[in-house]
Amino acid sequence: PETVTAAETIAAISTPPGEGAIAIVRLSGATAVATANAVFRGADLTQVASHTIHYGHIIDPANRQVVDEVMVSVMRAPKTFTREDVIEINCHGGIVATNRILQIVLQAGARLAEPGEFTKRAFLNGRIDLTQAESVMDIIRAKTDRAMQVAENTLDGDLRKLITTLRQDILEVLAQVEVNIDYPEYDTDELTTKLMLAKAQAVLTRVDALLATATTGKVLREGLATAIIGRPNVGKSSILNRLLHEDKAIVTDVAGTTRDVLEEYVNVQGVPLKLVDTAGIRDTADKVEKIGVARSKQALTAADLVLLVLDASQPLTADDRELIALTQTKRRIVVLNKQDLPAQLDRTELAQLVPQAEWLETTATSSVGLAPLASRIAQLFNTGVTNSQTQVMVANARQADLLRQAQTSLHSVIDGIHAGMPIDLVQIDMTAAWDQLGEITGDAAPDELITQLFSQFCLGK
Ligand code: GDP
Ligand code: ZN
Repeated sequence: PETVTAAETIAAISTPPGEGAIAIVRLSGATAVATANAVFRGADLTQVASHTIHYGHIIDPANRQVVDEVMVSVMRAPKTFTREDVIEINCHGGIVATNRILQIVLQAGARLAEPGEFTKRAFLNGRIDLTQAESVMDIIRAKTDRAMQVAENTLDGDLRKLITTLRQDILEVLAQVEVNIDYPEYDTDELTTKLMLAKAQAVLTRVDALLATATTGKVLREGLATAIIGRPNVGKSSILNRLLHEDKAIVTDVAGTTRDVLEEYVNVQGVPLKLVDTAGIRDTADKVEKIGVARSKQALTAADLVLLVLDASQPLTADDRELIALTQTKRRIVVLNKQDLPAQLDRTELAQLVPQAEWLETTATSSVGLAPLASRIAQLFNTGVTNSQTQVMVANARQADLLRQAQTSLHSVIDGIHAGMPIDLVQIDMTAAWDQLGEITGDAAPDELITQLFSQFCLGK
């Protein structure tokens, strides 16, 4: 495609907000090098070789004062992320200095980049497709090594290659139909119908397989939604805190959610757990808000994994029994906590309610049993999730939704052929499938979609 965007040079801070050891101000566009050179004291950046880095100072042109000591990377088109000229100014990470450099660059002629605009340019300039653009976002947000691996595979274009192959298959048969319509005298309808049926079935099989990876992709991307439930005082907070402390919690606020919705992640042996309703559990001043049975029920609906905590130093209560019943069909670990106290819980009764394979014993106050708990979580996760790192996966709801649409269209093709519908009608559904698959990679994506997609990016990406 044509380079639509080269006219304007954009700039943004590309490192995360806040204090860091270094920060990067990035520029992209036809005048990126000249703009940077105008505010840089050091080598003449317009004369240096591409893909080189230069030590010097950023100068405020207004008063000729030194703003910061920097390293500037010069990367000329087309071998850059955006396929445009790109400048990266590595500066000292203070918020004030970094913002000042950005302001100076903007005054020198660059325009502030919109969120995701660098990646959007990479897409518009044909360097990456939509699935790859999305994986850039996934890499930014990846919470585990595995999620990162999947995102990197997508960035390599694995999903695009697969989708492109499928679309090519569909296109071949559509071309065949065109030939039939143009040369009816050959009367190859029956052959074409057979071909169409075979292709539709073959593509459908691949689409089904791809869709089956959607859940895994979601879990890797978003974490296994985990609820820790149980009566008040059984030890939920203590267990959670042990998990958090021993495995270094990653506390993340996810872009796109409101500011006050904090999602908590804990990385247990490489498994990302997204903790459900921690507000009710994570209470240092535990007096007021004890997660009760009603609240447990709420947390349950959203959970992929349930840790049901029981107090082994007390007999089972009606509430315990209710929670056991409620979690019967869930992926579950029943934690018998407070093993250090004299046992009161009737294990014979529990054995009737819960298969013993699901039990685990802990003493949260002294961390006993916490390592086995972590292992069990990882084990449960891995049985539900493939280990293959090379598998092509659907990573997000947009891709999955389009695949489902394509699935429906392909079913219509197959049903239509079985019902003896004329080929030119069946062709409509086949074309729809071709379009829907094309939307995944952006080959057939409407403009609004592209705008909406890139606006989800953080500024500077
Ligand atoms: P929650 O209401 O389920 O979150 O329970 P907490 O984690 O707040 O624990 C309630 C009380 O039980 C606290 O005083 C904890 O110190 C205590 N506790 C938690 N786990 C154990 C344990 O394994 N053994 C003993 N003896 N006390 C525990
Ligand atoms: Zn608690």
